Amino acid sequence: MQLIDTHTHLDFEMFDDDRAQVIARSQNAGVERIVVLGVHEANWQRVWQLACEQPSIYAALGLHPVFIEEHRDEHLQQLRDWLERLHGDPNLCAIGEIGLDYYVEDPDIERQHELLEAQLALAAEFSLPVLLHVRRAHAPMIAMLKRHKLERAGVVHAFSGSWEEAREYLRLGFKLGLGGAGTWPQAQRMQRVLKQLPLDAIVLETDSPDIPPAGHAGERNSPELLPDICRMLAELKGVSAEELATASYRNSCELFGWPQP
Ligand SMILES: [Zn+2]
Repeated sequence: MQLIDTHTHLDFEMFDDDRAQVIARSQNAGVERIVVLGVHEANWQRVWQLACEQPSIYAALGLHPVFIEEHRDEHLQQLRDWLERLHGDPNLCAIGEIGLDYYVEDPDIERQHELLEAQLALAAEFSLPVLLHVRRAHAPMIAMLKRHKLERAGVVHAFSGSWEEAREYLRLGFKLGLGGAGTWPQAQRMQRVLKQLPLDAIVLETDSPDIPPAGHAGERNSPELLPDICRMLAELKGVSAEELATASYRNSCELFGWPQP
């Protein structure tokens, strides 16, 4: 089974003791490529270094809505400088993690919109896909994407919305990132949506170290678990694990512009 983990935070401290081993074990388990996403200016260098050192790692850079307190206006300029400097470098695969989060306590919605708008404009300018974090904010996100009409679209990561929301994203050319959340017995709505989704809509992700799959409560999540997540989601969808792996691999390659075997 060949897989791509489209969403991880392997640069986080939780992997400091065994990052290289985790990456090696993931590759042995069939996880050929792993995307690591920058969430604030302070971790971009670390994420980029990881992508340069490890052939299976690809970087995305962005300003995440949950870290809004840390973002400064000059960080948008710095993001643009990074994108200019790395333009055409295959180790850079997207802008992210960016998005809207209305679930955080007392969200600064205006500021979230401002930062997202600016980063969507950068995605259009540099012709990169976007990796989106969306919590309790699908309607405003869909409205904004309709205005921006990004040529390369992107991924709505850890998607757990309704079928109607899923369909809106698919019409806009987006893929839905699915991982451990849908494998838990209580994720019934997600499992109903999963059954309806066309196979060409899905990319797989772990969101490591977060969102471990069923059976791994409280553990650090890792790309090594992606084959298990694929098997569990395939069973819930009623397709073979091989079918889901093949489709999600192809979808990820199309999205990031990677060659397919
Ligand atoms: Zn994330």
